[in-house]
Amino acid sequence: MRIIVIGAGPAGSTAAETAAGLGAEVILVERRMEIGSPVQCGGFIPEASELRDLLPDARLPETLVEIPERFILNRTRVQRLYAPSGRSAEFPVAGRCVDRRGFDRYLAHRAARAGAQLIVGTEADVRGQSVWVKGRREGLIDADVVIGADGPASAVARAIGAVQRDEPGICLEYEMVDVDIDRDAAEMYFGDRWAPGGYAWIIPLGDDIANVGVGVRRSYIRGEIDLPGILRRFVEEHPHAGELLRKGETVAVMRGIVPAGGMPDIIQSGRFLLAGDAAGHVMATSGGGVPLAMVAGRIAGEVAAAHDLDVYTSRIERELGAPLRGSVMIRRIVDKAMRSDRSMDVVFSLLDPMTMKDIQRGRLPAPLERLRSMFTP
Ligand SMILES: Cc1cc2nc3c(=O)[nH]c(=O)nc-3n(C[C@H](O)[C@H](O)[C@H](O)COP(=O)(O)OP(=O)(O)OC[C@H]3O[C@@H](n4cnc5c(N)ncnc54)[C@H](O)[C@@H]3O)c2cc1C
Repeated sequence: MRIIVIGAGPAGSTAAETAAGLGAEVILVERRMEIGSPVQCGGFIPEASELRDLLPDARLPETLVEIPERFILNRTRVQRLYAPSGRSAEFPVAGRCVDRRGFDRYLAHRAARAGAQLIVGTEADVRGQSVWVKGRREGLIDADVVIGADGPASAVARAIGAVQRDEPGICLEYEMVDVDIDRDAAEMYFGDRWAPGGYAWIIPLGDDIANVGVGVRRSYIRGEIDLPGILRRFVEEHPHAGELLRKGETVAVMRGIVPAGGMPDIIQSGRFLLAGDAAGHVMATSGGGVPLAMVAGRIAGEVAAAHDLDVYTSRIERELGAPLRGSVMIRRIVDKAMRSDRSMDVVFSLLDPMTMKDIQRGRLPAPLERLRSMFTP
């Protein structure tokens, strides 16, 4: 049994480690010269206790439950949300702020130690039923199974006709130093002026360092998208965040897209499987995708090694289906509120913090349950 895994992010490395550990011959192909770099992530991963609540039907990989301390830069206690009006609310969320570059490399090391062959600096392309690679290795690679773990702009998804639902979030993030942030809190800021169609965030990385970013959506912006201008405005002018970030200096700039529309209709076709961002495995309410990518990678590795590909979609559905669908439905409801700061402020004032936490986990508060059928894809 030969498996080719395309993309050595959290989904791909987890799939490769799992399949190799089950005795399959695995080739893990990564187009970057250096796995994990450049980083395209805020680095926020909830603690295992939170993840068990967020993804109650999922079997979490051990590598997600026990992230080695050397990759945990900081731990947060709460999540704090700011409405467009500036009013804030917070709820408890135990979070790990992770060094993604180190963590991605650690996952790839584990895949290699389990027996996977790693080929970095090599881009894969799917032509018909064949996988061709170009870079440090060239030519056709024969495989019984192809796992597309190649991120939000997945070539494998394109090749099998998997179309992402809804428009993606477009993100820009700075790693900033000399900022005066609350190390205990991961913060989200809403408002048309700061993040049209999305939110801005501050994720504390320990000491006086933080990831500060903004995610927006095209349809909420008139004219050209000036992402640097939007993030600069948030950093310099937000009445609260601007104070915290006033003295900050930027040491890294990161960009990326977040597929926030849930799973496409197809995540498996013939011998091709999709996992992680390539399959829309992202919580649409927060843009958080690392835990889901790792769960999906584990499932992909297991079904690939057993060559039982027809069960892939139902296995994913069983472990991740409900939270994914719930988060998309809620995001669609919140989208309506986001069309105006006034309605966003009203929604914010009506919800108590624990209801906000439920909403972020993709769960509707009981009185709103009857709206489910209107928004479920
Ligand atoms: C700005 C930003 C901030 C974020 N913050 C968070 C956060 O705080 N917490 C969280 O949980 N999630 C966050 N996310 C989402 C998270 O980063 C992704 O959900 C996660 O990385 C998905 O993992 P993956 O393995 O599916 O894909 P990726 O991590 O994207 O890995 C895909 C890999 O495939 C490689 N690749 C792509 N195409 C090819 C090809 N043709 N051939 C070979 N290799 C290829 C890429 O180089 C890459 O290494 C954030 C995303 C962005 C953009």
